[in-house]
Formats: sequence, structure tokens, C-alpha cells
Amino acid sequence: MKTITCRQMGGPCDEKFQGNTPEEIMQKGGEHVNEMAAKGDEGHMKAKEMMDAAVNDPEGLKKWQDQFMQTYNTASEE
Ligand SMILES: [Zn+2]
Repeated sequence: MKTITCRQMGGPCDEKFQGNTPEEIMQKGGEHVNEMAAKGDEGHMKAKEMMDAAVNDPEGLKKWQDQFMQTYNTASEE
């Protein structure tokens, strides 16, 4: 099980997400960003904008995923 923070995923806070796969952590992080953005948190609204933009920007998305995988691979196993 690995732990990655919202901040490590490009978000604005230190909320932690745990999972056994990168997909699991990515999904939890995405849900968190959507939830916080829905509450009107400005930092997370910006993160959500970036996430939404990435859907139409395969190159940007790939860059983010590469970066995420690097973070995932260097995160300590718990
Ligand atoms: Zn957050």
C-alpha cells in the first residue's frame, strides 16, 4: 500500500490517498478534487480545471501521468 498526497498530484492540500495500484490512488485523488471543488474550494477548483483540460490534451495528460508514476514509484511502501 502506497500513500500519495493531494499536493504530490498537483493539488493544493495535504490530504492523503492510499492504494495498492496507481489507478486506485488516481481515482481517489480525482474524487477528492471533485468533492472539494464542488464545495467551492478555490485551489481544488483550479486543480479540477487542470484535470478537465487534460481530457482534451493527450500530451499534457501523458506528462502528468508520467510524473504521477514517478511519484508513485518513489513513494514508500507501507
Ligand atoms: Zn486536496
